[in-house]
Amino acid sequence: MQYYSTNGRAPLASLEKAVVRGLAEDRGLYMPERIPVLPDEFFRNIQTLTFPEIACTVADAFFGEDIPAERLHAIVEETLSFDCPVVKVTRSIGSLELFHGPTLAFKDVGARFMARLLGHFTRNTRDHRTIHVLVATSGDTGSAVANGFLGVEGVRVHVLYPKGGVSAIQESQFTTLGQNVTALEVDGTFDDCQALVKSAFMDASLTERLRLTSANSINVARLLPQSFYYFHGYAQMKRLGQAGQLVLCVPSGNFGNLCAALIAGRMGLPVKRFVAANNANDVFFEYLQTGSYNPRPSIPTLANAMDVGAPSNFDRILDLYGLDWKALTADISGAVSSDAQIRETIRFCRDKYGYLLDPHGACGFRALYHNLAPGETALFCETAHPAKFKDTVEAAAGVEVEIPARLAAFMRGEKKSVPMRRDYPAFRDYLSGLE
Ligand SMILES: *Cc1c(COP(=O)(O)O)cnc(C)c1O
Repeated sequence: MQYYSTNGRAPLASLEKAVVRGLAEDRGLYMPERIPVLPDEFFRNIQTLTFPEIACTVADAFFGEDIPAERLHAIVEETLSFDCPVVKVTRSIGSLELFHGPTLAFKDVGARFMARLLGHFTRNTRDHRTIHVLVATSGDTGSAVANGFLGVEGVRVHVLYPKGGVSAIQESQFTTLGQNVTALEVDGTFDDCQALVKSAFMDASLTERLRLTSANSINVARLLPQSFYYFHGYAQMKRLGQAGQLVLCVPSGNFGNLCAALIAGRMGLPVKRFVAANNANDVFFEYLQTGSYNPRPSIPTLANAMDVGAPSNFDRILDLYGLDWKALTADISGAVSSDAQIRETIRFCRDKYGYLLDPHGACGFRALYHNLAPGETALFCETAHPAKFKDTVEAAAGVEVEIPARLAAFMRGEKKSVPMRRDYPAFRDYLSGLE
């Protein structure tokens, strides 16, 4: 399978090139040259299949030409070391819980898959140099990437984070790991971290010597595996006899997760319609209403992983619809939740249904509640465990949130980080010592 750029001015790329590069030469996003449609028989029997079986079928369709089946299936099975169960909340609405991975958020799926795919490429090409992953984080991406790549041979991860700028829980998830993960505590802001990473990628004397990659969320190796759990969610609803008119609702920030859901739909997954749930950062919602897209600076909200003012996957979604706003809005509707509504929803859902939402899932649940047509059923993605947002959730729900053992274990670990100034020469010296 080859990958083209959404900007249309870069050569087609192999899977390996698309994964190692991340962005195309023309700064566009890579898309698979075709979206394979899975056979009817697969959907007829899907409710009898396990999550790894379902995911292997989807993975074969995208990556089968590029990776030997046995290796690919091993990658899928290692990626899915945890389940993504559907938990019914109301009679017609289920929560697709994507937070059972190591860092308790859905990004674990894409990060774990990408890490193993890169590991495969380092072993199978003539270039045996270590791949260095540089990732700037304001919190969650760093933990998903660091844990995803932990222990993967041939790959080293360097996480740059702003000193004092992330929560203690988040910090513990990438500073206590050791092995092939190094945390760089930058004396600056998240923007400084991002600028350092950018400078490194633009430094030809470094990129000629070191194999650098970014592992950020626009990477196709993170995007495509996110479709796995939509098929699995559908299978579980089908088992319950509730998949006849299924609506999928995705709490969205950079819109990678929604894009993966749309791709699942193109592969034949019988989804009636899609809902993009947003917090007060409503550029996509505005686009749905007006057809005009006006990216702007993000504003901070309680659902902070969705605080994005210029969604990086917007071009991919446009590309899927050939820039046809009418076609796009026929499939996708939107909803916006304010912080007050997020709090109310957490409280209401806990009181009425006994289900504890996190602030992101609350946007999803609220977008569906009272918004389903007769006969429709729906799944929303619970994208993070409520304990990751303990203070917000406890204040809103009025109950104590238990910290899961795997999260508590991070917090007990010993913090190790390398102090880093925010000027590029200091970072360059650090990188120069690597091979
Ligand atoms: C990243 C993230 C989102 C947003 O996902 P996108 O793919 O960027 O739209 C939602 N919720 C949580 C908890 C996240 O970490």
